[in-house]
Amino acid sequence: MTMRNIAIIAHVDHGKTTLIDELLKSSGMFRDNQKTEDRMMDSNDIERERGITILAKVTSLEHDGVRINIVDTPGHADFGGEVERILHMVDGVIVLVDAAEGPMPQTKFVVSKALKLGLRPIVAINKIDKPEQRADEVLDECFDLFANLDANEDQLDFPVLYGSAKNGWMSTDPEGPKDSLEPLFEMVIKHVPAPTVEEGEFRLLATTIQADNFLGRILTGRVIAGEVTPNMTVKALARDGSIVETGRISKVMAFRGLERTTIEKGVAGDIVSISGLQKATVADTICHPSIKDAVAAQPIDPPTLSMT
Ligand code: GDP
Repeated sequence: MTMRNIAIIAHVDHGKTTLIDELLKSSGMFRDNQKTEDRMMDSNDIERERGITILAKVTSLEHDGVRINIVDTPGHADFGGEVERILHMVDGVIVLVDAAEGPMPQTKFVVSKALKLGLRPIVAINKIDKPEQRADEVLDECFDLFANLDANEDQLDFPVLYGSAKNGWMSTDPEGPKDSLEPLFEMVIKHVPAPTVEEGEFRLLATTIQADNFLGRILTGRVIAGEVTPNMTVKALARDGSIVETGRISKVMAFRGLERTTIEKGVAGDIVSISGLQKATVADTICHPSIKDAVAAQPIDPPTLSMT
């Protein structure tokens, strides 16, 4: 199946949860009786390990035969490595901005990381139903922000959507039809490249870790190459290539709507979770036993921005 992996970057309250719920709804994946607590983006089955806060949650939906994985990112500065690993799972970002407030300084850090990784932003100006909206100025502010963060020409030539997540619409034209999120889906499919798939045997860079009472350690990341199936023997490599452990995959899971479900096979490009390993952790490469080198973490410049 064709896939797109994206992240949404938004300041708190600019409407990320609302937008994701509406996207799920319009893909027929939102159950009306679903309690708010069940929402994937709000789930709290998270553990802290080695002082690393685990942030990425994934919501996945299908639109016109395309699987779209939406990765949550913190809207604020956090541990640099974590944000970077999360952004490594995606090929594009939606910068969601409140049409009255404009881009907030707290999102600068994550936006700058995305730009440095070469991701092309889509700007979605939300809440234009608000009487105090100032979408034109906010658009200029986004441009200035990206320019100040050394965005390249392509990144500065970003596509724009205007809309109201709360009312379930986004459009390339603020005066256009206010009836669906279709333009957002179209834009993601058109402007975000399909995930890059490398040659060779199974490799996955573990991005997040969770503890589950039944399954034990659950590692989540994007499959960079090959495929992963239950019962497969894999190796975990630390960043320096040393072997952390060799073990057997017990379960392979993928995100489907708001839930995580067991699948028979995790394929290159998809974001999947695996269980069965005892010691492997975030930033380790989980791979076929024949692989010798860890996935390059591609270190980028340390943050030079103030973290206000
Ligand atoms: P998050 O913190 O980014 O996940 O933001 P939420 O999705 O929780 O939204 C924060 C608040 O903004 C909630 O009260 C939403 O109902 C409201 N909101 C979201 N989208 C819109 C919109 O398009 N227009 C207006 N007026 N309010 C919105």
